[in-house]
Amino acid sequence: MIQHRDATSVLAGQETIRTWQEHLYKTVHQHPELGHQEVETAALVADALRGFGYDVHEKIGSTGVVGVLRNGDGPVVLTRADMDALPVEEVTGLPYASTDHATDRDGVVVPVMHACGHDVHVACLLGAASLLAETPDAWKGTYIALFQPAEELADGAEVMLDAGLADLIPKPDVALAQHVLPFPAGRLGVRPGPFLSSGDSMRVTVWGRGSHGSMPQLSVDPVVLASSIVMRLQTVVSREVAPGEFAVLTVGRVEAGSKSNIISDHAVLELNFRTFSESTRAAIVAAIHRIVEGECAAAGSPKPSTYETYDHYPVTDNDPDVAATLAAAFADHFGDSAFAIDRQSASEDFSEIPDALRVPYAYWGVGGIDPAQYAKAEASGTVVTDIPANHSPSFAPVIEPTLRTGTAAAVVAALAWLG
Ligand code: ZN
Ligand code: ZN
Repeated sequence: MIQHRDATSVLAGQETIRTWQEHLYKTVHQHPELGHQEVETAALVADALRGFGYDVHEKIGSTGVVGVLRNGDGPVVLTRADMDALPVEEVTGLPYASTDHATDRDGVVVPVMHACGHDVHVACLLGAASLLAETPDAWKGTYIALFQPAEELADGAEVMLDAGLADLIPKPDVALAQHVLPFPAGRLGVRPGPFLSSGDSMRVTVWGRGSHGSMPQLSVDPVVLASSIVMRLQTVVSREVAPGEFAVLTVGRVEAGSKSNIISDHAVLELNFRTFSESTRAAIVAAIHRIVEGECAAAGSPKPSTYETYDHYPVTDNDPDVAATLAAAFADHFGDSAFAIDRQSASEDFSEIPDALRVPYAYWGVGGIDPAQYAKAEASGTVVTDIPANHSPSFAPVIEPTLRTGTAAAVVAALAWLG
């Protein structure tokens, strides 16, 4: 359990690091990089870690960076931050807003923005790494600061593992991570058990028979077939998942045809689904297959459908002991600002790292919204319309107290094992 004294002495340096930390945050925010392209960000991170005295491994997988700081015998704590940005055009109007563009995986030039706040995670973890390096007398053990590429592409953790991450670092006793979320800055929350849902995408291609629009009797119309599938899929969550059990199934994209008077020969549906339990996930996958096959049979589809799954995120399922340790440490340090956070329907690939390394983990949320702005929106019942959430082109975490809280959270969490 954390000793309050240790956190206080480590965090005494927070005012000293504030200037460079804020400068680094603004630099990363202004120059966001898409997944696996985080070259400048990774170089900045690696240079900083070396400056703090960490052993640094770079270019793990693609742009992954790990810093290891050994400080005597004791537990090994790994904390992870993700580094990638999104193809979103920033409209925050901030003086340090991004106007950068980049070429995405499909070769398309897109605007880039840190719309998910991963720049906050980078700045906070570097801040914590620096504070721990400056106060070796306050703790014992090994601190691993891991900077992951491409969380938004669902394969950043995977490429680091495939590149031999396990052989580069000592085996952690615990793995930790945090995300900035749209609640008041200065607050933070953790919970035991499932915290972030699993997320999966699936591309389904169904086949009809093409014909002239004036001769439907010669066709099997894939537009009608796809429409039946879309409607029937709406019953999966409403009729097949138990009330109270969380699930989302969205048909995000439907594509068929080229012209009003041509009946095309196929349709493509892109689905996304999220759950908190593996059994619900399996039931949804089975229902999708059953409905697609059933509707294809009913339509007289001439060719087997194809299914392609992609962008899989596992459930982020906080270890109860780790989460309890964190909750106690946060309550001790942050008082009422620490709370028991609700489950979130967002998804993350962080847990692939502790799962592969066979270590327990927990993941928590820190607020990023100006508390006064949030209170005003709450009072007028306009949180939904006035408070931009992650992935919005208006998402603009307030620098303080967001960085101070996220940095302190990473330090307090680490010291719960190392203090
Ligand atoms: Zn995101
Ligand atoms: Zn994110």
